[in-house]
Amino acid sequence: LAEQEAFDIEYWVLEEAKLQRLPKPKALAGRIALVTGGAGGIGRATAERLLADGACVVLADIDASALERTEKELADRHSPDVVRGVRLDVTKEAEVTEAFAFAAREFGGLDILVSNAGISSAAPVDETELSLWNRNMEILATGYFLVSREAFRLMKRQRAGGNIVFIASKNGLAASPNASAYCTAKAAEIHLARCLALEGAEHGIRVNTVNPDAVLRGSKIWSGEWREQRAAAYNMAPDELEEHYRKRSLLKLSVFPEDIAEAVWFFASDLSAKSTGNILNVDAGNAQSFTR
Ligand code: NAD
Repeated sequence: LAEQEAFDIEYWVLEEAKLQRLPKPKALAGRIALVTGGAGGIGRATAERLLADGACVVLADIDASALERTEKELADRHSPDVVRGVRLDVTKEAEVTEAFAFAAREFGGLDILVSNAGISSAAPVDETELSLWNRNMEILATGYFLVSREAFRLMKRQRAGGNIVFIASKNGLAASPNASAYCTAKAAEIHLARCLALEGAEHGIRVNTVNPDAVLRGSKIWSGEWREQRAAAYNMAPDELEEHYRKRSLLKLSVFPEDIAEAVWFFASDLSAKSTGNILNVDAGNAQSFTR
C-alpha cells in the first residue's frame, strides 16, 4: 500500500508539472470589444492589450486616416481576422447605432466596450466660449452616454452580461487650472459610470472607470495646443511638462498608454469579476490626491 501511495504522489506531482507547462488559455479568448478613439494613443494601446489576450477588437474613431493606418498595423501584428475599423463620431446617434451593428455583424456581438474617444481644451472660465463648453460636453459626457446606451441595448439583448470601461481622467476628480469645461465633462463621465453600474448589475453588466493622469507619449491630445496651454498654466516650457508630471507623482514615474491599457484589461477580464462602479487612478500616485 505504501508503495502504491508513493507511486500516486509521484504521478500527481508529474501530472501537475505537466499542466503547469501547458499554454494557459487566453483570458479574453472569443470576447468581442469595441474601443472608441481606437486610433489614438490610449485607445490603440488598449486595443493591442485586448488583442494580445485573445479578444476580437473593433476600433472606432472619427479620424479616418489614423483609423485605417491603425487597423492595418494591428491586423499585421495580430491577424486580419480579429481587427476591424469603423469610422465613428461618438456625438452622432445614428453613427453610434451603426458602429455597434457593425461589431455585431463582423464578430457576432459585443462583450466589452472601452469608451475612450476624447479631446482636450483649455481656457480660463471667462474666456470659455459656449461653443467650447458644448464641444467638451458633447464629445465627452454625451459621447460616453451614447456609446454606453448602445452597449447596454446590445448586451441586454445578448443576455450574457458584459463589461464597460470608461477612460475618464484625474481631472474629473481634481480641478485643473483653466480647464473647467474639460474637468466638468470628465466628472460627468465618472458619475455616469456609477449610474450605469447600478443599472447594469442585474444584467451582469459591469461598469468601471480608469482615470489616467497625464499620458504625454503617443497621445494626439498632447501634440496639439493643449500642451502649450498646460505649459502656460504651469508657467513652464512645453518640453518641461513630462518631467513636471513625473516629479509630481509619488512614485516619480511617467504614465504611458500601456499602463492605462493594463488597467482596462483588468476591468475587461474576469479577474475583476467582483468590481463594478469602481475607479482606478493610474497616476503613479498623483500628489494632488494627498496632503503632506
Ligand atoms: P488621443 O488624441 O491620442 O486619442 C483620442 C482619440 O479620440 C483620437 O484618435 C481622436 O481622433 C478620437 N476622437 C476625438 N473625437 C472623437 C469623436 N467625436 N468621435 C470618435 N472619436 C473621436 O488622446 P489620448 O491621450 O489617447 O486620450 C484618450 C482618452 O483618455 C480621452 O478621453 C482623454 O480625455 C483621456 N485622458 C487622456 C489623458 C492624457 O494625458 N493623455 C489623461 C487623462 C485622460
